[in-house]
Amino acid sequence: MEKLAVFLIGPQGSGKGTQASILLERHRFISIAGGDIARKLAKKHKEIREEIKAGQLLSDQILDKSVVEIIQKHPKANLLFDGYPRNIEQARFIIQHLKDYHRLVLYLELSDSLSIKRLTNRLICSHCQTTVYGEEVKNLSLLAKITYRFGRCPYDGYPLIKRTDDTAEAIQTRLNLYHQETEPLINYLKQSSELVMIDASPTISQIAEQIEIAINQNNPRTNTNGK
Ligand SMILES: [Zn+2]
Repeated sequence: MEKLAVFLIGPQGSGKGTQASILLERHRFISIAGGDIARKLAKKHKEIREEIKAGQLLSDQILDKSVVEIIQKHPKANLLFDGYPRNIEQARFIIQHLKDYHRLVLYLELSDSLSIKRLTNRLICSHCQTTVYGEEVKNLSLLAKITYRFGRCPYDGYPLIKRTDDTAEAIQTRLNLYHQETEPLINYLKQSSELVMIDASPTISQIAEQIEIAINQNNPRTNTNGK
């Protein structure tokens, strides 16, 4: 077993997407992101596009099949799963295809209150679509901070907008759904995978540091090479 499969799981506001990008920059993972796969499929197939437009989630079978195709295309690679599996059925399915991988679940833990605080304080750039969190701006340059204070994107200066579904009530509803789906999923995954809890309350770089330690401790390649 010298391949690693990492499952990145965490609620909205935990910085999961950001951490996935950091991991992909630092390590040679093949990214398996549920959201990206759904978008790509929708681009290619009209029926799928219409289903998604009608508010339906992509069916498990279509997503499962695409995920397996990616795994088979990269038989030697380490894999980073983000936004997949979403439920126990998908987990049961995909674990069968990951028998010769060391499997690691990184669970980004964040209280509901902190998640709500972060999400109600986030804005989205109308141009580059970057999500900007109030607390993250503190670490940027002075110019970026001033730009942000004027309601503009600290990265390119275009106006920042608020998502209309980022009210405390709407966020709480999404979090309740997340807990309902995710807790059983974690309980299932930890029976056959290593589970590491990551505290998602500190800064992006502190979270990345915890993740780096977990990856290095669980990467069969780093363990054998001592690199
Ligand atoms: Zn921008």
